[in-house]
Amino acid sequence: SLVLDNVSKSYGATRVLDGVSLSMEAGEFVAFLGPSGSGKSTLLRIIAGLETLDSGTVTLGGRRIDTLAPGARDVAMVFQAYALYPHMTVAENMAFGLRNAKVPTAEIEARIAQAATSLEIGDWLDRKPGQLSGGQRQRVAIGRAIVKNPALFLLDEPLSNLDAALRNRTRVELAQLRQRVAAAIIMVTHDQAEAMTLADRIMVMNDCRIQQVGTPLEIYARPANAFVARFVGSPA
Ligand code: ATP
Ligand code: MG
Repeated sequence: SLVLDNVSKSYGATRVLDGVSLSMEAGEFVAFLGPSGSGKSTLLRIIAGLETLDSGTVTLGGRRIDTLAPGARDVAMVFQAYALYPHMTVAENMAFGLRNAKVPTAEIEARIAQAATSLEIGDWLDRKPGQLSGGQRQRVAIGRAIVKNPALFLLDEPLSNLDAALRNRTRVELAQLRQRVAAAIIMVTHDQAEAMTLADRIMVMNDCRIQQVGTPLEIYARPANAFVARFVGSPA
């Protein structure tokens, strides 16, 4: 389980997160919704350890992780702009984190083969990211997260660069991912329909704060305030 307790963050004089608290069960899928600039990516980066917090704590599986190095957190992140290593092949991209974690080579190969099959990226394993389309790169980035077998997946708009068909396929893949793994999943998205169909709960952010956390039905039928109602387009 993931517990965020009173997490705050400012860049200089600009407050980005103001006392954000959230508890998630293992295996739960939570979607973050909110306007551009509301701090969604910053919160993911803080959980992943790519950004420091000013105050508050982050606990995963009962262990405080906000003081740990990113590689020691048992978290895998898929970035808004994929962030693959350009000089490595697809297979090397997927193997890199596992090698650093001293996972045995045979095990690395088995995990890559399995992810490559389920994501249908097997034909590109020897290509460099520059030889792939944006959508193909996005799926490789998801594959690179899957092979890490983390306790928590952080997905920052993972479907935003895919065409409609691939988006549907990858959405199904994400739904299956949560069946297959015990991991918790956080997905940032601008697509409310996607959040409503995939997530157990939705967190709506605005003005540096959580406006509401609830099931898709609760958010839609019983918005906590005028902002949430407007944002998700609840009936008046
Ligand atoms: P989007 O939906 O557009 O991706 P977001 O909710 O992910 O937006 P963040 O990227 O978390 O928003 O940014 C939140 C705020 O923090 C923005 O006002 C942004 O300009 C600011 N910010 C983010 N990173 C930095 C940084 N490294 N230095 C200064 N300000 C930053
Ligand atoms: Mg963002």
